[in-house]
Amino acid sequence: MATDLLVISAHAADYVWRGGGTIARYVQMGKSVQIIALSYGERGESAELWKSGKTLDEVKAIRRSESQKAADILGAPIRFMDWDDYPLAVDDARLLELVRIIRNARPVAILTHGKHDPFNPDHETTAAKVHQASVLAISHGVLPDIPVAKQVRLFGFEHHQPELSEFHPDIVVDISEAFELKKEAMNCFQAQKHLIEYYTMRAFIRGNHARRISGQGEYRYAEAFMRYYPLVAGELL
Ligand SMILES: [Zn+2]
Repeated sequence: MATDLLVISAHAADYVWRGGGTIARYVQMGKSVQIIALSYGERGESAELWKSGKTLDEVKAIRRSESQKAADILGAPIRFMDWDDYPLAVDDARLLELVRIIRNARPVAILTHGKHDPFNPDHETTAAKVHQASVLAISHGVLPDIPVAKQVRLFGFEHHQPELSEFHPDIVVDISEAFELKKEAMNCFQAQKHLIEYYTMRAFIRGNHARRISGQGEYRYAEAFMRYYPLVAGELL
């Protein structure tokens, strides 16, 4: 059976800051969502835990448990690959594992990182490898024992510094009904508390854009994404 949304996150919390509202919204609408975290963000995105003297294993365990709790709140299953971060390396064996994941999930849409992020090479690696895996997933000669996937809609998260990462919003998703869940999920990450206020503000600003563009005055919070491919439709949507 097809998965409506497959979310592939470089680190343990990226999917919450940048797509948590959309994930919760999908779940509220009865759609199927799967989350993959390639690493725990143990080296690059856990500064507060290192400052408090935790060991690598302790940092990973804390990040895993926070991320699991957040995914439970959003209502979607999560799988942790534990591929290490800073640097996050995706060799050909791991690339083929991503192909297997895509083929088994048969997603309608994949949500991952945007292509350019000068402040976080792990995010760029994830974007490039997920894009590559999505192309390999529709190629009959690759892993011929697993049925090929269909061409997937591919979306990139809004970056932490969008203007400096060549981000422009191609789609703005209303998350007003899901925002409380996103906030609760963001609160799971004690090592990155400074980001909670930041992403609350960003959802508020994108909510303003959502109202202005759509004319729907009830929209309060939103998340923005970039498309990897143009929208194909029978009318001008
Ligand atoms: Zn990250």
